[in-house]
Amino acid sequence: MVKTVKFGGTSLADAEHFRRCAAIVQADAQRRYVVVSAPGKRFAADVKVTDLLYSCFDAARAGADFSPALAEIRRRFEGIVSGLGLTLDLAPEFEAIANRLRQHPDRDYAASRGEYLSAKVMAALLDVPMLDAADCIFFSADGEFNAEATQAVLSGRLQALPRAVLPGFYGSLPDGSAHTFSRGGSDVTGAIVARASASVLYENWTDVSGMLSCDPRVAENPAPIDRISYTELRELAYMGASVLHESAIFPVKVAGIPINIRNTNAPEDPGTLIQPRVSTRESRPVTGIAGRKGFSSIVIEKDQMNETLGFTVKVLEVLCRHGVLMEHIPTGIDTMSVVVRTELLAPCRAAVLNELQACTCADAITVRDGLALIAVVGQGMVRHRGMSGRVFSALGRAGINVNMIDQGSDELNIIAGVDEADFEPALRTLYGEFFPRG
Ligand code: ASP
Repeated sequence: MVKTVKFGGTSLADAEHFRRCAAIVQADAQRRYVVVSAPGKRFAADVKVTDLLYSCFDAARAGADFSPALAEIRRRFEGIVSGLGLTLDLAPEFEAIANRLRQHPDRDYAASRGEYLSAKVMAALLDVPMLDAADCIFFSADGEFNAEATQAVLSGRLQALPRAVLPGFYGSLPDGSAHTFSRGGSDVTGAIVARASASVLYENWTDVSGMLSCDPRVAENPAPIDRISYTELRELAYMGASVLHESAIFPVKVAGIPINIRNTNAPEDPGTLIQPRVSTRESRPVTGIAGRKGFSSIVIEKDQMNETLGFTVKVLEVLCRHGVLMEHIPTGIDTMSVVVRTELLAPCRAAVLNELQACTCADAITVRDGLALIAVVGQGMVRHRGMSGRVFSALGRAGINVNMIDQGSDELNIIAGVDEADFEPALRTLYGEFFPRG
């Protein structure tokens, strides 16, 4: 049986952390494929290696001197190499990077070097071959990840290698140049490797012991989530509760591979297991509560709206033309509200409102800003009666006004819209309702 393990930047911030990661890999013979991030922050005010690389690129592109930033990265890697007692000469690598930056500065190539060098060091430490992601993770010319080509090549390469270390975050375009996922993308590489190696588990090692059932900055000491389904995770992540890159689910989801979020600094903690399904009997009614501020509600009023064919289509066409994503559409008989992100609406607000007025001939259109959304998420809600009653009674008792209600038809979540000023108290109230102390 095979497991893929991925270590994030804080887990690889210095030699001591590299050593911890190596010990984790060596503690289980099934941990055969290792994906690494670039070294992250060692302390709060530190700078991630990836950010230093972006600074090198910015300087190189501007024709300025990038050598101080590159020298800092070199010091960090050489400190790790010497701290680990390895005899790995990185000088030729840094010369090659400097030459590339001087001749053809390329942003993604620059950024990819953090993971590349991390993988070199980890491969030397574990005494395992390194497989360069440039040779087996592919993107199409438009920058979209090419899952089929990658799966075909990578699975073949891994079959030939009983163990390997791979750099996360990047791959290559059809012309051979480097291309990266968005920030935090090594999580995605880990999932791709787990799929290509038919792993039974994708372990994602980070600096927290898994997901929490509520934001610890708002609720005091929230309970950890031991098991969560892919779908529940997507719902909570959308609302801002995130421990994983949002695209990391898809490669493992198609193969039904569970993800285990683990803590490098507390390897004995079981962490959170993200599974294709959590049986409803196993799960508590609510798995987690999360929310986000920054929404606006466009309220459209028109007599006999419900009898006007295609009304919603016209509204959505306007939003679509301006690239404004629709989040929720709570409707009444003669009113309709469209909840959107304020930041997406802001640049085209006047145009959107004018076009909506022109195409719907509405009696009134108003925008209400300062809306926060809170999602109560849990697969187990389906079999518990009175869940929405509890959500809204708890908010009512706390004197919090609910502006909007949306419940997914799969009964996986209940979403309440409240004023931004009520956001924290509402989150705390709901957490207290579903996760009572003692
Ligand atoms: N090093 C990259 C970043 O800082 C990718 C990653 O760590 O996953 O975003």
